[in-house]
Amino acid sequence: MRQFLTKEAYDSILRAVLEGKKIERGIANQVASGMKDWALSLGATHYTHWFQPLTGGTAEKHDSFFEPISGGAMEKFDGSQLVQQEPDASSFPNGGIRNTFEARGYTAWDPTSPAFVYGTTLCIPTIFISYTGDSLDYKTPLLRALQMVDRAATEVAQYFDRNTSKVTATLGWEQEYFLIDKALSDTRPDIGLTGRTLLGHIAAKGQQLDDHYFGSIPNRAISFMKDLEKECMLLGIPVKTRHNEVAPNQFELAPIFEEASLAVDHNSLIMDIMGKIALKHDLRVLLHEKPFANINGSGKHNNWSLATNTGVNLLAPGSTPKKNLRFLTFFVNTIKAVNDYEEILRASIASAGNDHRLGVNEAPPAIISVFIGEQLTRVLDHLEGVTTGKLSPEEKTELKLNIVGKIPTLILDNTDRNRTSPFAFTGNKFELRAVGSNTNCSSPMTVLNTIVAKQLKEFKKEVDGLIKKKDLKKDEAIFNVLREYIKASKKIRFEGDGYSKKWEEEAEKRGLSNKKTTPEALKANISKKTISLFEEMGVLNETEIKARHEVSLESYIMKIQIEGRVLADLSLNHVISSAVSYQNTLIKNVTGLKEIFASRYKELASDQVVLIESISGHIKEINKNVREMVGERKKANAIENLEAKADSYCFKVKPYFDIIRYHCDKLETMVDDNLWGLTKYRELLFTR
Ligand code: ADP
Ligand code: MG
Repeated sequence: MRQFLTKEAYDSILRAVLEGKKIERGIANQVASGMKDWALSLGATHYTHWFQPLTGGTAEKHDSFFEPISGGAMEKFDGSQLVQQEPDASSFPNGGIRNTFEARGYTAWDPTSPAFVYGTTLCIPTIFISYTGDSLDYKTPLLRALQMVDRAATEVAQYFDRNTSKVTATLGWEQEYFLIDKALSDTRPDIGLTGRTLLGHIAAKGQQLDDHYFGSIPNRAISFMKDLEKECMLLGIPVKTRHNEVAPNQFELAPIFEEASLAVDHNSLIMDIMGKIALKHDLRVLLHEKPFANINGSGKHNNWSLATNTGVNLLAPGSTPKKNLRFLTFFVNTIKAVNDYEEILRASIASAGNDHRLGVNEAPPAIISVFIGEQLTRVLDHLEGVTTGKLSPEEKTELKLNIVGKIPTLILDNTDRNRTSPFAFTGNKFELRAVGSNTNCSSPMTVLNTIVAKQLKEFKKEVDGLIKKKDLKKDEAIFNVLREYIKASKKIRFEGDGYSKKWEEEAEKRGLSNKKTTPEALKANISKKTISLFEEMGVLNETEIKARHEVSLESYIMKIQIEGRVLADLSLNHVISSAVSYQNTLIKNVTGLKEIFASRYKELASDQVVLIESISGHIKEINKNVREMVGERKKANAIENLEAKADSYCFKVKPYFDIIRYHCDKLETMVDDNLWGLTKYRELLFTR
């Protein structure tokens, strides 16, 4: 920017990024001109506003810089093209906010996220809003939430350091994915159309030997990764870690954490370019949460913290009691926020794909809980006993020296990482582990930052109140409020095995939600409590919330509908036809045996006859269940109300998937491998 912008334009961008200041139109012209020169120097011919509509992916519409002028042409890009565009975007999901006939949504430049050149296109990160100002994308509410958490956290951080003037949320995501040979993947219509396998008998070898996890990375995978990393470096995405994951052909990629909205952009971008780069290596990337049954699915841990402009990680313990009290303040407030709003945190990661993971003993359960480790549990237990009101000098000294002061050394020993916890404290950050691999991180990040902002705002009010009305010292007031928060948020804390049946029972007693399916989980999004939270924090208004709810339900319905159709197609046109072919071979064999061996044939052909009958039995079951599934689908499609329709797809249509699959997978074990048209798990998962 320094090289291509005037000093004035450069400063103006920095002020926009750091202080949220507006950029004047005149300056925007200067920025556009500099941006164009920069992009042209990298070989760009086109530009696009790049945004994240509610489809979950990214969207772009390229325009060339080319502009005819009398007698010739020139390359043009000015402030108005930079700042705002009106894509004819009537086909993006909008949940009824923007009627199609008034198809006017527009994209607006987000100067906080750097523009980038991909291929020959200058991409300008933007937000996407309707002409009424309602958000139609993932980015807008996230930016609002980040602004709220900045404001609330800065005020609280000032209790400890007056120099704090800005707090940014940080996010480090860990992206899991599968890499499958492209040609093999293309032979599977289910992978092509739904991103996952709807059929397939488990391979003799799966992940039971644990030989893939952290094993040596296969050659093709490593050459893909190198290519991808090179591209990431060119785009400014600070990728750092790569390794094999638990399941065969499953891998993980993680960057160094960044400011949350930039990290979200980078994750969306990377999910897009991974697919493109994989094709160059004749590979297909699967980002679905559960591409294969019976082996692990993929998630995307969201590591989250808060950092100040003075370089302090607010969730990292420090070297003095004062710094540790600051740590405890943000730590306890985060726990309290999750305690009070666990249901919307759960809803923020709900999707048809993620339903296969949550609560299936490989990912965290559908119950949200917080893990903090034994040592910090002891600290909080102690703080629960702090005296109400004023503290004696002895108590203060005891707290400072023996409790708060000892935290950093305690955490160093805090090695017991509980992999079954959906929201775990890992030394200097919280890690939300229940996010699906295909989820746009904006959703959980919007919720997490909003609830923490709301909580910190309340905290500030309560502490100030105690200082004023009860004449308490600042740290006394803080201890007093924290004590109450620790007591009030006990139910969300859980250190045990999140996979156990006992935890489900215990969680129910504690009143925690346990929503195993998307339609059930999404209901929390439109509760009175949620609406008033988002409205109070200025993150989403009621119209936006309801529109998003509709979009989520529709997306769920469509996904299950498509899966149902593909499953019917596969089982009727692939599985049954293979099975019938093989059955005919068997019949020919039996009649042949009868011809040759006359009376002895019964003994010789008995196994074949059993197999013929058994194949018929499975074919019958498949046909019957597909018929019933289609019937349920028709009934579901006739339902107007979206919630009822989603319920119907979830509880009436989807249960047939497992039944149909069972019979298809049985046939796979019986039918001649030469006649089986579908590529098998062992080929998909072990071709490298
Ligand atoms: P794991 O053991 O779960 O793989 P790592 O220590 O490798 O965890 O870190 C995982 C991610 O956490 C990385 O992307 C890293 O950049 C990120 N991370 C580390 N510190 C922070 C922080 N303060 N805020 C947000 N993310 C962080
Ligand atoms: Mg992790």
